Amino acid sequence: MNILLINPPNCGRSIPEERYGIDSLKQIFRGEPLALEVVAAGLTDHNVTILDLKADNTDLQKTIHAGKPDIIGFTAMTCEANTVKKLARQARTLCDATLVIGGIHASNVPEHFNEEPFDYIVLGLGKDSFHQLVTHLEQSQSDFAIPGIASVTPGQPLSWSPRRYNHTDQPIDHAPRYDLIESYRDDYFLAKLNVSLGFVVTAFGCPFNCSFCCIAGQCGGQYLTQPIDAVIRDLQSLPDIPFIRLVDANTFGSPAHAEELYRAIKQAGIKKNYLIDVRADTVVRHPVLLQQWKEIGLRSVVIGFEEINDQRLAQMNKQGTQALNDEALLRLKELDITVVGDFIVDPDYSHDDFDTLERYITSHKIDLPMLTIMTPLPGTPIYDSMKKRITEHNLDYYTLTNAVTRTRLPEKEFYTRYANLLRACHAQAKL
Ligand code: SF4
Repeated sequence: MNILLINPPNCGRSIPEERYGIDSLKQIFRGEPLALEVVAAGLTDHNVTILDLKADNTDLQKTIHAGKPDIIGFTAMTCEANTVKKLARQARTLCDATLVIGGIHASNVPEHFNEEPFDYIVLGLGKDSFHQLVTHLEQSQSDFAIPGIASVTPGQPLSWSPRRYNHTDQPIDHAPRYDLIESYRDDYFLAKLNVSLGFVVTAFGCPFNCSFCCIAGQCGGQYLTQPIDAVIRDLQSLPDIPFIRLVDANTFGSPAHAEELYRAIKQAGIKKNYLIDVRADTVVRHPVLLQQWKEIGLRSVVIGFEEINDQRLAQMNKQGTQALNDEALLRLKELDITVVGDFIVDPDYSHDDFDTLERYITSHKIDLPMLTIMTPLPGTPIYDSMKKRITEHNLDYYTLTNAVTRTRLPEKEFYTRYANLLRACHAQAKL
């Protein structure tokens, strides 16, 4: 079958830009749609195309007329949900392909897509469930039940059976289809940081449950590591890319697996730099592991510091403290590993809170601070507790750089402080 997988364009909207002309809040990170490459890896007996509208402004009509897809699969983050609905409606006017939506927003709030023109919703890891769906459609079967797939039933409650994810949902037998995005590779260059990143996965999901985090939708709180051989294969599939982003939500979530992987990378003689996501407690508890990875090319670590206030960290269920974060930072500095620090600015911030955060970031010399605004993403634990305070319900604004709840400071002052903080923190940013 002809299958077209679509990554939507950059489409989030900006309150500070629209209301106050503050246009400096641009996202830095971009990269290949690895989740679609993984889904494509499960479709070996089909003709698959990936259209990355973040890198390609080709008209959808042209792509559909050229490829004549039998099935179109979309992925979307929360801020892309409305755009994907528009794209699906456009696709429906152009062809009668089966329309499928997956991705993190569909996984956390599938009801948002229980409407025409969608036909099916994929929840969580979709490599195997999407393949099963394609097989049923190819055989013209209509009466089937696949765990992790919901049939769209507009006007009626959505129902599906949950999926217990396992190795069949992971890209083990075949590498992600890197070849399908090869023509876009040059577009994944991060100009502000002067680097190109290739994406490789070593684990899916996360066993923690931070209140603001949407990762639970990926595999329902499970943590699934990739077999070592598969990771080595994927690293070797990107021979011309020297800098690899391990796109796991929580790399080193299994220290034993991470150590085994270190040995395998060393033995295979793979020479690359790595950017990974690690929890502060992992850095503190496993210093030898960090040293080992430094030896094989670990260059930068993303750490979710989130807050510099223990009470707020506890409210986030982060299971960490500022003292632990400080210690992790110290260990990484000792190893000369670049620190990308994630911080969450609360709409409730006062001028004092902004001052304190800026002092912390500058005095601790965090190489690349990433500052988002606390956003109650639908489907996350914090959504229920914050939903009465939400003032902006249009998901286009759920980019993590808008306050969708009321700000304590007058709104314009809040965004001015936020933009100034970002500007000051990024003046010397490096990766
Ligand atoms: S923020 Fe990090 S540690 Fe917390 S649930 Fe998400 S991925 Fe896991």
